[in-house]
Amino acid sequence: MTFDKVRTRFAPSPTGYMHVGNLRTALYAYLLAKKNNGTFILRIEDTDQERYVEGAVDIIYNTLRQTGLLWDEGPDIGGPVGPYIQSQRMGMFKEYAMQLVEKGAAYYCFCDKERLEEVKVIQQASGIAPHYDGHCRNLSKEEIQAKLDAGIPYVIRQKMPQEGTTTFHDEVFGDITVENSILDDQILIKTDGMPTYNFANVVDDHTMGITHVIRGNEYLSSTPKYNLLYQAFGWDIPVYVHCAPVMKNATEKLSKRNGDASFQDLIAKGYLTEAVINYIALLGWSPKGEQEVFTLEELVQEFDISGISKSPAIFDPVKLKAINGAYIRKLSPEKFEEMAMPYIRETCKREDVNTAMIAEVLQPRTELFTDIPEQVDFIDQLPEYDIALYTHKKMKTNSETSLEALNCLLPVLEGVEDWNMDALHQAIFSKIEELGVKNGYMLWPLRVALSGKQFTPGGGLEIAVIIGKEDTLARVRKGIEKLKAEA
Ligand code: GLU
Repeated sequence: MTFDKVRTRFAPSPTGYMHVGNLRTALYAYLLAKKNNGTFILRIEDTDQERYVEGAVDIIYNTLRQTGLLWDEGPDIGGPVGPYIQSQRMGMFKEYAMQLVEKGAAYYCFCDKERLEEVKVIQQASGIAPHYDGHCRNLSKEEIQAKLDAGIPYVIRQKMPQEGTTTFHDEVFGDITVENSILDDQILIKTDGMPTYNFANVVDDHTMGITHVIRGNEYLSSTPKYNLLYQAFGWDIPVYVHCAPVMKNATEKLSKRNGDASFQDLIAKGYLTEAVINYIALLGWSPKGEQEVFTLEELVQEFDISGISKSPAIFDPVKLKAINGAYIRKLSPEKFEEMAMPYIRETCKREDVNTAMIAEVLQPRTELFTDIPEQVDFIDQLPEYDIALYTHKKMKTNSETSLEALNCLLPVLEGVEDWNMDALHQAIFSKIEELGVKNGYMLWPLRVALSGKQFTPGGGLEIAVIIGKEDTLARVRKGIEKLKAEA
């Protein structure tokens, strides 16, 4: 099968966990394919049975669907080069390995565990990195046949060149050259006839027509071995794009233990899917211009491998929050109210409040839904507060001016018939004008009296609308009492 189109794949192992770094790999593979009108393939690499986790494949499907990274070929929808689950492809690898044996690029190895262990111990004792010592590299045809006839178990190993160097090109890391002498004669086929992960990965990528291999740079050191396999087969080498890790800070990787390394963790923390994808795109990739907020479609247009950085990306929750805020502001007011409501209701249970107004004041200043409950906790009940709050340098208020202001405001508020924003605005501002005072002289004490807090979503007028006339008057009276008591 020949492919003249770009074909990328996301090849996750089902670990039960969608690490941010893995999702980023999926995203880049998706973007690169879509940008080039190519094909994005999902291959599940489930051959490592020790890591098998129930339901883990569903986490992969669900995450990709939720984020919109829809695959064109994959286990559930099939495609021309299936099966797309590695464990269902097991039959084919031995044949490929035998081709390499024919070509002299691989060989039978009959060494048993005990021998390998001895070699390892000796190597370690002499301070050499453990590697296969090449004991079976040069067995004659007859020796091999005799051992096969005797039923001695064997593996197939890759025959690494002992001299010279291997160079490969990576789009992010440039040309990388290694001495062949350091390459271990790695096992391709195990004693049970099954391929090792490294071998299956290469054969799968080739037989699936993958043109661009995008993955974490923990695979960079294996790539020379992969390259030698491609060369031995006479196959086209794919374009390699290795991505630097996502770090928590300069020294620690973003890890499961921190509880914020997976897509699920971020969603549970209240981040919007679109914001997470947008932010993840920027983790180690820089767009050409200044724009940072992109829809998935925009990312497809913008994406370019040359923008991927080889330095590790540091996960910045502050930036993620800011991007999340940008997405929250883009929501329609109705949608925002619907999404914010469960969070509002965590601390604000009163039924007689103007929830539309709560949503209106929250939307422009919310970066994360989980920050909402704490912002509206004063609505149900006025908290105990310190009258020092009435003193505000910039507003030029103190407890005396505040007492005056609240005393003026009380009859004004009592006189407002239709309790809405316009009427309140009209009434309060004509009083301000009449007295010739600064806005803050009136509005700051009002906000403090109604909320008992220094920071509130919305100002005094909005809060008055939210809590209604009766409660507004009661809170203003309470403020007056408090200030009088201290005077
Ligand atoms: N299955 C590997 C992983 O989950 C991916 C390897 C690759 O992309 O080549 O780490």
